[in-house]
Amino acid sequence: MTDNELLSMAQTFGTPLYTYDAEKIKQQYNKLSNAFDKQTRFFYACKALSNINVLKIIEQLGAGLDCVSIHEVNLGVRAGFSADRILFTPNCVDLSEIEEAMQLGVHINIDNISILEQFGNKYAGSYPIFIRINPHIFAGGNYKISTGHIDSKFGISIHQLRHIERVMKSTGLNIEGLHMHTGSEIKDVDVFVQGLEIMFEIAEHFPNLKYVDMGSGFKVPYTKDEVETDVDRLGKKVLNAFDTFQKASGKDLMLWFEPGKYIVSESGCFLVKTNVIKQTTATVFVGVNSGFNHLIRPMFYDAYHHIENLSNPNGPERIYTVVGNICETDTFAWDRKLNEVKEGDILVFRNAGAYGFEMSSNFNSRLKPAEVLYLDGKAQLIRRREVFEDLLKNQIEVL
Ligand SMILES: *Cc1c(COP(=O)(O)O)cnc(C)c1O
Repeated sequence: MTDNELLSMAQTFGTPLYTYDAEKIKQQYNKLSNAFDKQTRFFYACKALSNINVLKIIEQLGAGLDCVSIHEVNLGVRAGFSADRILFTPNCVDLSEIEEAMQLGVHINIDNISILEQFGNKYAGSYPIFIRINPHIFAGGNYKISTGHIDSKFGISIHQLRHIERVMKSTGLNIEGLHMHTGSEIKDVDVFVQGLEIMFEIAEHFPNLKYVDMGSGFKVPYTKDEVETDVDRLGKKVLNAFDTFQKASGKDLMLWFEPGKYIVSESGCFLVKTNVIKQTTATVFVGVNSGFNHLIRPMFYDAYHHIENLSNPNGPERIYTVVGNICETDTFAWDRKLNEVKEGDILVFRNAGAYGFEMSSNFNSRLKPAEVLYLDGKAQLIRRREVFEDLLKNQIEVL
């Protein structure tokens, strides 16, 4: 997607607008799968971006799907993923949601002892499951996106291994997979090797083990100085450790990963229009026709998104603070160098494919943006822009 194509999409479909480049999704997936071997499978973490068309593209690439709600599972089925290519990894759901997923025949990943017991008492070993282990590794870009540390709600503590074993023995559970996911934006590939070694240490306690799922957290660059996770190095190091373990243990295992952000982040751009330029005593604000209700990552995670002025790419550079239109502190970027911005100019937020539209809301009774897919040189609308009636759709007027 060139900048001119982006500008013409803004004209055709209006703003605010999310656009996704299918080619980039394919490139990222291929880069990853080429770095590993036939024993490795990638289950795209659907919560990063779940538009049904994006899921269909990823299904056709041959990936699996990692789902965190029963609705994501159903979206996956709708997109054409067969049950054996779907893994359901919920957190804090009750047994009935897990049972709904069992009806569909997908892989089930259980992340606490209470559900493990309930499941075992009811189904014993009749339905093989994964368990999510919390290895207590601190990894990831920041505390909010780190999930493997000691205070995290995710997974069953590695220190509860004996408890897991007791439940397994007393109920006859059939545990076919071990899973961990320690966080997001992990640069250091050694974290995965370290995690894998922890998995190997406990593997002998699970005689039916077939799968080791290392979750994800592969990093993509948000600033010019950042680098993405070196997947070739990751592949070499992890496969090396994996081979050593398989030879020593005589086990024949499959290795799974669950990349979300790595697959879709860079495919996405978020386009907004400048409504107001507001000079104050302290700064020059660029006020755009969107807000954290459409792209929450800057406010929620202090995330950086690179911003460019598509309408005036050669204008002199000036320093701006880019803000949204929500009535609450709503800053996309402080002190950002942009080519001179005028009212009406179209700005692009790069790297907005993951956790962008997906985390959007109707806060301030504003409408959600449209989504466009750029595929084979053609831009197609894949979600219509909301209209006023959508705000009232599920409301019941009793007065
Ligand atoms: C969110 C999530 C992922 C994907 O993480 P990314 O940082 O987007 O790659 C993978 N697995 C599980 C269980 C998750 O919750």
